[in-house]
Amino acid sequence: MAEVLVYVDHVDGAVRKPTLELLTLARRIGDPVAVHLGAGADTAAATLAEYGAARVLTADAPEFADYLVAPKVDALQAAYDAVSPAAVLLPSSAEGKEIAARLALRIGAGLITDAVDLEAGDSGPVATQSVFAASFTTRSRVTKGTPVITVKPNSAAPEAAQAAGSVEQLSVTFGETSTGTKVVSRTPRESTGRPELTEAAIVVSGGRGVNGAENFSVIENLADALGAAVGASRAAVDAGWYPHTHQVGQTGKTVSPQLYIAAGISGAIQHRAGMQTSKTIVAVNKDAEAPIFELVDYGVVGDLFQVLPQLTEEIKARKG
Ligand SMILES: Cc1cc2nc3c(=O)[nH]c(=O)nc-3n(C[C@H](O)[C@H](O)[C@H](O)COP(=O)(O)OP(=O)(O)OC[C@H]3O[C@@H](n4cnc5c(N)ncnc54)[C@H](O)[C@@H]3O)c2cc1C
Repeated sequence: MAEVLVYVDHVDGAVRKPTLELLTLARRIGDPVAVHLGAGADTAAATLAEYGAARVLTADAPEFADYLVAPKVDALQAAYDAVSPAAVLLPSSAEGKEIAARLALRIGAGLITDAVDLEAGDSGPVATQSVFAASFTTRSRVTKGTPVITVKPNSAAPEAAQAAGSVEQLSVTFGETSTGTKVVSRTPRESTGRPELTEAAIVVSGGRGVNGAENFSVIENLADALGAAVGASRAAVDAGWYPHTHQVGQTGKTVSPQLYIAAGISGAIQHRAGMQTSKTIVAVNKDAEAPIFELVDYGVVGDLFQVLPQLTEEIKARKG
């Protein structure tokens, strides 16, 4: 069976969930070969094998941390040359998409970004994308070279399928221009303890109806009771009530969680574009005519300041 390269997103060997989703999707096309760059390959290998990686190609070098993405592209290209895969899959993060684009250019291949599903086809893998503010669903196939495809988080439920996961060292030579942009300092983002917005299984978002930064705690409390990430509409972030990094929508992040709860959000097309592929959508809005109710699975017509605290308490009580 053909091999499929899967670029591993990890923190010191702790493999992130989107990579497990990629391994699950890769198995539909061929045998996954994971590419793990940086420290922690031995830790990661067990997880990667559990989710179907037949082989784990690994390389560690200071260049991966000291420079921007180009050294990682060198390494992924080395893996590509060693394996001659049927496809290369990467997570649809900002970094994943940049690496994908650079690799596709170097190997003269077609690129598909932000796929939400992947299946085997007679002439290569077929990717599903949700485009034009999610108003259309397209299915595409790369017609030139080895398909390079980035897949959005939460596009598939990770399924374990034990494989060998044999760890092999990858020999990488860094190009002269790959070390052209050095990272001179890093400031760790203050952790909220909540999951990453684009990867979270549950997202609770607040809009203009939250009516002030000080009131966002009502959103955060519900999110914490559910183990969810916090999102916000553009109206809320433009008002300075919540950081821009949490904006959901056409000009913000795209989320596709199992459960999306929108509180005090009207449901403008630009907001929907970032959340309408969520599996279950719940809205709390005091206006029964709000457009958000057109796309919800469950709608509560009511004041979010009454509904959300009750919901939070009920969830906490049920969790014991
Ligand atoms: C080019 C462009 C790009 C854009 N990109 C984005 C984007 O990425 N993301 C995005 O979100 N928007 C985006 N917008 C803005 C978008 O058009 C809307 O203006 C925005 O989504 C509205 O935010 P909102 O729903 O929070 O506010 P509103 O539309 O003002 O809705 C607030 C809602 O809260 C309800 N409400 C008020 N008080 C309460 C209460 N106490 N309890 C319950 N409900 C209450 C109201 O009934 C109302 O439905 C974009 C616009 C443009 C032109």
